[in-house]
Amino acid sequence: MVEAVEVHKRFGSLEVLKGITMSVERGQVVCLLGPSGSGKSTFLRCINHLEQIDAGMIRVAGETVGYREKDGKLYELREKEVAAQRRKVGMVFQRFNLFPHMTALENVMEAPVQVAGRSRSQTREQAMALLGQVGLAEKAATYPAQLSGGQQQRVAIARALAMEPEVMLFDEPTSALDPELVGDVLDVMRRLAESGMTMIVVTHEIGFAREVGDVAVFMDGGVVVEAGDPAQVLGDPREERTRSFLSKVL
Ligand code: ATP
Ligand code: MG
Repeated sequence: MVEAVEVHKRFGSLEVLKGITMSVERGQVVCLLGPSGSGKSTFLRCINHLEQIDAGMIRVAGETVGYREKDGKLYELREKEVAAQRRKVGMVFQRFNLFPHMTALENVMEAPVQVAGRSRSQTREQAMALLGQVGLAEKAATYPAQLSGGQQQRVAIARALAMEPEVMLFDEPTSALDPELVGDVLDVMRRLAESGMTMIVVTHEIGFAREVGDVAVFMDGGVVVEAGDPAQVLGDPREERTRSFLSKVL
């Protein structure tokens, strides 16, 4: 579903991704861990084409990100085509970024109506179902300022799901939350995983990574240091760098 091959990305003289290769099967949950500055967010942003890579290749749902293939050649996509490709990828950030002047329901409805041009009545029904899925049906008419951080984050998840993405990217979705609110968000993510969604999750929630993750990937300095069964990578890492990182976050 997501395939990255030798992905390189630099910002000026700083090489942030130094050849990332990773393969995520349909329905798999991959948890990405690593120290601050190791390139986790940058990698997610490359998958979503929010950043353009300098070398290598990323494919999402069979399409090369940023390019169209014709007769064995690659052609750069136009802005509109990039936007269409991006709809296959849902993204949830550390900060919830809800539209403050819209209710929870309107937030979830916004992209399907405005971007995909779907009918309001049909979208409303689907958006209500999504709010139910994240446990917030009764908050449909509530504005973000009146929701807790955890509730806002669950609305953000529903909003990303409203575009029916093929894969969901989560960038530290619980790290800005008060500890007592983390569990509800992780529960929603766990159920989403159980429903078969393909997910790449940057998280330092080791428990979540071990229970829900199919694969754990430890990144440091723009490379994959080790990847594999979460029980092994997080419980009995092969690499000293992984071990020392885990001893700090646990
Ligand atoms: P954290 O755990 O703190 O979120 P991260 O692993 O997500 O870290 P990135 O945000 O991907 O790390 O950043 C990797 C490196 O790239 C950092 O050194 C950062 O300063 C640099 N960087 C990220 N975005 C940009 C940018 N737009 N311009 C220049 N440098 C950038
Ligand atoms: Mg980050």
